[in-house]
Order: sequence, then structure tokens, then C-alpha cells
Amino acid sequence: MPHRLTVAVGFATAVALAALMPPGPAQAFTGGNHEEITRAALPWQPTTLAAMSDARDGAVNANDHGGYFQQGPLHCDNADYLAPRYAPHYPRSRDEATTELLACIRTSVTRFRNAVRAADGLVDAQGKVVADQSDLSSPCTWKETPGRAKCNVLEQLGRGWHQIEDFYAHSNWSDRAAPGPVGVANPPGLARTDVAPFLDIRRYSGMTDAEWTGDARARIPADLTTGCYSDFDSTGVKTEDCSGRITHNQDLNKDTTASPRSKTGDNFRRAVDGATAEITRQWNDFKAELLEAYPDHRRGEQMICAIVHDDPAAQCRGQQPPQL
Ligand SMILES: [Zn+2]
Repeated sequence: MPHRLTVAVGFATAVALAALMPPGPAQAFTGGNHEEITRAALPWQPTTLAAMSDARDGAVNANDHGGYFQQGPLHCDNADYLAPRYAPHYPRSRDEATTELLACIRTSVTRFRNAVRAADGLVDAQGKVVADQSDLSSPCTWKETPGRAKCNVLEQLGRGWHQIEDFYAHSNWSDRAAPGPVGVANPPGLARTDVAPFLDIRRYSGMTDAEWTGDARARIPADLTTGCYSDFDSTGVKTEDCSGRITHNQDLNKDTTASPRSKTGDNFRRAVDGATAEITRQWNDFKAELLEAYPDHRRGEQMICAIVHDDPAAQCRGQQPPQL
């Protein structure tokens, strides 16, 4: 159902407005870093893997192009917060920061649901891969216009995974502070090596918004922060001034090895490792969801086969009629 692929997000108008604006400076893991992370996480065949991961044209990088680039929730931006013991009058509250982070998670939850629905088109009612819907002999375009089912699935997954990868580069979840006093210019680092429990996208996709946001709120550490960036927040307001706040550019991002925060210890590698483990989890969870959602005639299994293989019509035979 093509119309069901539309993403219902509150800042759609801002997306449309931002599409008219010129692109900003490079933000987020560079396309090359997104590619490295995505390739490391996905055991897919080459053409399909390139369609998802390519540094410029991959689905996972689509959120860094056009108007999407300026939408903070698509990069987990503006969820900055510093507790009173570090900054007595930090200009943002914990709750405001959490609201921005939840907006980021929400975009992934929506994309996950879209991807599960789009996968339905890969396989017919008898469990046979639909050849023309799973064909990648010509490239997909990531324009949110329904096309081949495989392109639809890749676009929804890629647009849902981008911000999850960004989270590890844009937050202090996995990094460490520099030596010296902790403060706005040197936020605390949580040094976590596990995947974030509030990015449990599959589980959240089966819950109401009130249910999953309540669950996520309880799991977000008080000292978690991302960076203020001059893009649109979840309410569609453009952040013009990050003064007095933890900034993406100067204080926190690990988008490249050259960023200030990457210079402390192995912070860059910690972000890459966290994001890679996370996408591994997200792919495994998506597979599990397909198996559960489409059990009849092993359709879920065939959908997975159609996603990971470059020539599914030939490589995913499914249930064959008995040979005489
Ligand atoms: Zn990004």
C-alpha cells in the first residue's frame, strides 16, 4: 500500500521548507564512516550492500541530503543537557533534552514499521519471491516515492538507521571526557560499550507512543547528552544560537577522527564500534520481526532472502512443488 509508506512526523512542514535551503556544512559521521559502519554490520551481497551503504548514494546516507539534513531529529541533535553539578544554570532541562532524543528515536520506530510493511511486496502469497519487486539491476532512488518493494524496504531501513548511527557519534553514550574539569566545553563521557537500551526499535514498534516513550525515558541516563546544532528541532524551530550549550561542532561530535572530541583517547573508535554493534542488532531485530509478522508459507524467510541477495529470483527458491 503505497500511501502507508508516508512518514507521519510532526516536522514534515519544516522538512519541506528546509528542502528549499542550500545544504549546510558536513554534519554527522561522514558518508564514508556511515558506509564503513553499515558494511561491517550487514552480511549482504555486494550490490545490495552498496545500495544501502554507499558513502554518497546509499540509503543509509539519504538523511544527510536535501532538506533532511537540516532536521535535528534525523541526526539525534539538540538533546543537550548538563546536570547542575557541572553547570548550575544550563539553558536546557533534562526533559527538553529527552524530548529531542525521543523525537529522534520516533523517526526510527516509524521507519521500522514502514519497512516491515514494504517487505510484504517482496514475496507473493504462496511464499515465492516476486522477481520484478526484488530486482536491483537498475539503481534505487531515495525519494520516498513508492517503487520496487526492495527499494522501498532499503529506503525505510536506511532512513531509520542513519540517526541511530549518528547517535553514537553525536552523543556522549560511548565516549570519555578529556582530562580536566567537566563542563559545557567538556561534557562527561558515559563510556558505555553496550547498545543503547532506549534504541530498542523493534520492541518499541509494537507499543503505543505513550508506552515506548515511557520505557525509553526510564532508560535514558541523566547525564546523557547530544550536541546543539543549528538545524530544526522537533518542534520545527531552527536553533540559531548554541551559546552556553554543549555544541555539536566544538564539544561533542565524533564524526571524523579530526573532531575535538575524537582527540581524547579512542573516542572515535568507540563511536564507530558502538554504531556497528547497534546496526547489527537492528538488522537482527528486523529479521526477527519479518519471521514473526509473516509466518505463512515461510514468507518472512523468503523476504529476508530477497533482501540480502543480489538476484533473489534466482537465489531464493522457497518452497518448491514436489518433483515427480
Ligand atoms: Zn546525520
